[in-house]
Amino acid sequence: MGFLAGKRALIVGVATERSIAWGIAQAMHREGAELAFTYLNERMKDRVTPLAESLGSKIIVPLDVTKDEEIDAAFERVKSDWGNLDILVHAVAYAPREAISGSFIDNTSREYFRMAHDISSYSLTALTRAAMPLMAGRAGAVVTLSYLGAVRSIPNYNVMGVAKASLEANVRFLAADAGPRGVRVNGISAGPIKTLSAAGIAGFRKILGEVAEIAPIRRNVTLEDVGNTAAFLCSDLAAGITGEIIYVDGGFSHVGMSFGNEAPEG
Ligand code: NAD
Repeated sequence: MGFLAGKRALIVGVATERSIAWGIAQAMHREGAELAFTYLNERMKDRVTPLAESLGSKIIVPLDVTKDEEIDAAFERVKSDWGNLDILVHAVAYAPREAISGSFIDNTSREYFRMAHDISSYSLTALTRAAMPLMAGRAGAVVTLSYLGAVRSIPNYNVMGVAKASLEANVRFLAADAGPRGVRVNGISAGPIKTLSAAGIAGFRKILGEVAEIAPIRRNVTLEDVGNTAAFLCSDLAAGITGEIIYVDGGFSHVGMSFGNEAPEG
């Protein structure tokens, strides 16, 4: 029996089979969880539906996190079908392409700043609030996805890094508030993975190459690496962990300097 047997999870953030949310969904399914999925819009519906159905999901609902009425409708559907919820996966972020390339100072308009924070950080607050009543009396767990740009400057990541810093603070405040009500909230700071969103970040291929060379495990992390960690964090095995940002980055963030695989000069 899997360690998520009997748990019900709502997965927000699948766009393609390369999405981190899809890696998480597969790991959770393998461990016995029952899954519900959301898709951003009609265009994404056709991509997400076959993926969700392949894992036996019967709840596949539209959800644009900028629309309060869609948040209400999605959780209403979960309530009417399941009556409760154990796990919320938040794997959503967005900034306009112009904002995630070139100069941070020149390319961060008020509107781009607002959008990045609304979609990438505030949405975690809004979705957790909507999930709380369904998690009442259960060992609820929420997990979100962050990136090293929350705590270090990374070329081109720009306003998304500022939004991820907000997201990580959000995790801590939500954890403090939800904990007494039995719900844990954690984040995973994932190493770079080639996804649809990542493709929008200027120079992303270079980042992948650099990390694979420098990270102690000498490779980029995979959807499985992140999926397995998320499944663990949302399981009762992680009952003592909340408010945490867990790095699944092959140790990259811990390296101060590296010569890669070059032999050190004696
Ligand atoms: P992805 O493009 O597969 O997923 C991003 C998702 O966000 C998509 O499903 C998209 O539909 C959704 N989304 C965007 N705007 C939305 C809105 N208004 N309402 C609802 N959904 C919306 O890319 P991904 O890399 O899997 O991204 C998932 C998460 O992982 C993001 O938070 C991202 O910042 C984070 N992350 C990614 C990497 C990486 O290298 N890929 C590394 C660390 C963290």
